[in-house]
Amino acid sequence: SPLVDRPVDGPTDASAIATLHESFALQQAAFRRDPHPDISQRIEHLGALAAMLMANRERIADAIAEDFGSHPAVFTDLLEILGPAGRAATAIEHLADWMAPSERAANPDVYGTARATMRYEPKGVIGNIAPWNFPFEIGCGPLVEMLAAGNRVIVKPSDLTPACGALLQELVASTFDREHVTVAVGGLELAREFSSLAWDHLLYTGSPAVGREIMRTAAENLVPVTLELGGKCPAVLTASGVTAQAAESIVGTKLVKNGQMCISVDHVRLPVDRVDDFVELVRAHARDTVPEHSRTADCTGIVSDRHLARIEQLLDEARAAGARIVELEPGVRADPSTRRMPLTLVVDPPPHLRLCREEIFGPILPLLPYEDLDDAVAAIDADDRPLALYVFGADVEECEQVVSRARSGGACINTCALQGALPTLGFGGSGTSGMGRHHGIEGFREFSTARGVVVRGSGDSIDALYPPYDEKARAI
Ligand code: NAD
Repeated sequence: SPLVDRPVDGPTDASAIATLHESFALQQAAFRRDPHPDISQRIEHLGALAAMLMANRERIADAIAEDFGSHPAVFTDLLEILGPAGRAATAIEHLADWMAPSERAANPDVYGTARATMRYEPKGVIGNIAPWNFPFEIGCGPLVEMLAAGNRVIVKPSDLTPACGALLQELVASTFDREHVTVAVGGLELAREFSSLAWDHLLYTGSPAVGREIMRTAAENLVPVTLELGGKCPAVLTASGVTAQAAESIVGTKLVKNGQMCISVDHVRLPVDRVDDFVELVRAHARDTVPEHSRTADCTGIVSDRHLARIEQLLDEARAAGARIVELEPGVRADPSTRRMPLTLVVDPPPHLRLCREEIFGPILPLLPYEDLDDAVAAIDADDRPLALYVFGADVEECEQVVSRARSGGACINTCALQGALPTLGFGGSGTSGMGRHHGIEGFREFSTARGVVVRGSGDSIDALYPPYDEKARAI
């Protein structure tokens, strides 16, 4: 996919690889010395992470704006800063429960007074390979559950957002001991070296294509992986779901980072006889709320010239194929100097177009009409499994049926993206959109070793297994 068709990029400073190896060895040695940080140490780390983010709101906003060209402050505050800081607060609140060993039943006829517990223990040294689209939310957010679970972490930010990478490196270095958390920056060479280390766990967030490469590399050392990948997230409008509220939710979500969000709405499936109504609802919403969106700093810039060219190509291909194009800012094209691009609808594009096959990751919204809701749901379930599914309608039971029949990583009914916002809900993909979970207790357990431990008591019949066998078997 061109999302990952990257040029051999970003220089890797020769010393960066040596530093990475050194940090990794330091963290491994430190973990061996102190493998069981207690709850107060963990809470201290979580508090320090949240304070680091909150104290540097302006610098973080400036770095993101530098990398994206423009990036509304509200996205930085809500998503990149308050998001992970709130997640840390949630972890602090629940940590004692999360860490508590879970007592399991043991049949006294067989096991006597033995005690069986699952214990959630730190894994060790974890790598976090983060993408460009949420440099702090994904650079720091998963640290919450990794640190809550008592691990040490090295973060590798994307080289496509160098100002954010450099700032994250500086802030982490002034907040944490290198033995605990550190940041490695560099280009593709560093990224490959990073993914080849013998981590105790590796989290990768990015495209499915690179996810495959990461998993292959990790398999060499049998490193367990969490893969947070992408895909084409559909919004499904049932017959009663073609409403102004659905239009607001879908357009609002699509404009978050101008479509550069893994849980953005990729396309909308809607009843064929309601397409024009929905187009009008979207037009009216855009006219009332963001009439000249792409000409203002409220519009997030596309991250790079190459990504902008790719999204424009997707639209050009749809134009060339004769698809109906609805420009929400008539006559306005992407501005190469700001990399801001207006939101455009494409009605019923032919399925062979790249627009219909690749994750769009930008401000284009295809509308795919259906004759029959069941067929639309079957088409979603037959395709690569999306990270998210959004269903709109007045009949919540009908919406629930769509959710249960079309598999996805997460889902919302009558809204979008909130499954990724709530710090109490495990978040992740399914099938090609990823494996494993972070956020909340699911994240804590993902980054812990669940260890089953038995303490033998008295009155058990466990020696029935030991020789001599025949005599014992007769006694059972
Ligand atoms: P990207 O280009 O920033 O790559 C992601 C990370 O992988 C970066 O740190 C990059 O340096 C590293 N990388 C690239 N090639 C590598 C290699 N060969 N070996 C090791 N590391 C390598 O980001 P992207 O891939 O353009 O990200 C966009 C994709 O990420 C989309 O598909 C999007 O849906 C997905 N995404 C998923 C989530 C999620 O939570 N599931 C969140 C954000 C983005």
